Amino acid sequence: MLADCGRVNSLPDGAGVELRGWIRSKRHHGRLMFIDLRDGTGVVQVTLKAAELPEADFQAVSSAGRESAVVVWGVVVHDPRAPGGAEVRARKIELLSASLEEFPIKKGVGPRFLSDHRHLAIRSPKAAAILRFRSNLLKSIRNWFEREGFVEVHCPTFITAAVEGGATLFEVNYFGKKVYLTQSVQFYQEAAIYSLGKVYSIQPSFRAERSKTRRHLTEFWHVEGEMAFAGLDDLMRVVERLVGEASAETLENSRELLKLLGRERSPESVEPPYHRVKYSEALDILASKGVQLEWGSDLGADEEKILTMEFDKPFFLTHFPRKAKAFYHMPDPANPELTLSADLLAPEGYGEIVGSGQRIHDYEQLLARIVEEGLEPADYKWYLDLRKYGSVPHSGFGLGVERLVQWLLGLKNIRSAVMFPRTMSRTYP
Ligand code: ATP
Ligand code: MG
Repeated sequence: MLADCGRVNSLPDGAGVELRGWIRSKRHHGRLMFIDLRDGTGVVQVTLKAAELPEADFQAVSSAGRESAVVVWGVVVHDPRAPGGAEVRARKIELLSASLEEFPIKKGVGPRFLSDHRHLAIRSPKAAAILRFRSNLLKSIRNWFEREGFVEVHCPTFITAAVEGGATLFEVNYFGKKVYLTQSVQFYQEAAIYSLGKVYSIQPSFRAERSKTRRHLTEFWHVEGEMAFAGLDDLMRVVERLVGEASAETLENSRELLKLLGRERSPESVEPPYHRVKYSEALDILASKGVQLEWGSDLGADEEKILTMEFDKPFFLTHFPRKAKAFYHMPDPANPELTLSADLLAPEGYGEIVGSGQRIHDYEQLLARIVEEGLEPADYKWYLDLRKYGSVPHSGFGLGVERLVQWLLGLKNIRSAVMFPRTMSRTYP
């Protein structure tokens, strides 16, 4: 029976199995050999006794290096001494593909070397566990949207107008014309709500971030949603339920992965509701910690970090000043210097994982804001058009997949949360 390395311990004693995988490590004791075999589902110990299998098989495998591919036929034996509680005693083994050279990823190699060899480093059980966790998370996020009646839409990557401001746009030469890589699909989703109501997208966004931080990539996966007839409170309710419920489900479904990664995080620890903290209250909290931030400035990484240390669950930071936010943010009717905006910040120093807000839906008001920001109304013609035909209050959000993975798994650097990271200094491999 073809079996997964990661599930051998759930098979009965004496079961005959066929395993296909790669040699993670090998230990020799004369005519006895132990192999840690991995196949993407997990690792299992395979014991080879020269007396119990064809001599040619034993010889071929004894000279095979790490990451050589093999097929093993053997018998499951439950043994508390084996890692995972069960091993496979080989009766036959075939060397499918021997490694041509010594596998370069070894104990003691530095982070730079690992990044340069990411195409090989992702074979490690820890890297694989993170990628699997990320896959589980995306599955839960998608299921959440589908349960809640959101429609998935797919938006273009080449764009002509900035969503998040010009400073972090990547330029592309498009047949001699200057276009950009998308920073967010928000504007397209705002068009889509008039066609479909509630929409979501999961696709990459690009930011020419010059900052070399532990939480900025130049290409990241962006989960975005937009809803017609929704104000700030509706929006925060949706965001906290999405983040809370999808994260809790993922943690629940990923217990083995968390154990392997040595991460303790219970599904309860992410459960909503989350606190709502106004920008002005945040300034007071910071002042009480001896940090003075001028009213109107955006929180920097340092301020964000100090603030998040005060919480043990994610929390919303709301009502940012107008001048700290992009032109399309809805001014607060109670105080037009503020916006109906909400960032969701992860606790323990991790910081922003979601940016969200209500959008201006009035034509004249949006036009005035575009002009006030010194932008060219002609560049936003189609976006303004949306305010001409049955425009309604609407709100939306953007969630960074890697930021959420980083926080849930407690990863030091966001790069570990993505298979092949793109940063200011890295586009290889
Ligand atoms: P920050 O201030 O942390 O750079 P931002 O305000 O630029 O974030 P938004 O434009 O609101 O972020 O984007 C929505 C979400 O996308 C963020 O909350 C974050 O989760 C994610 N995100 C934004 N920029 C990056 C990036 N450079 N790398 C990874 N994720 C990002
Ligand atoms: Mg940014």
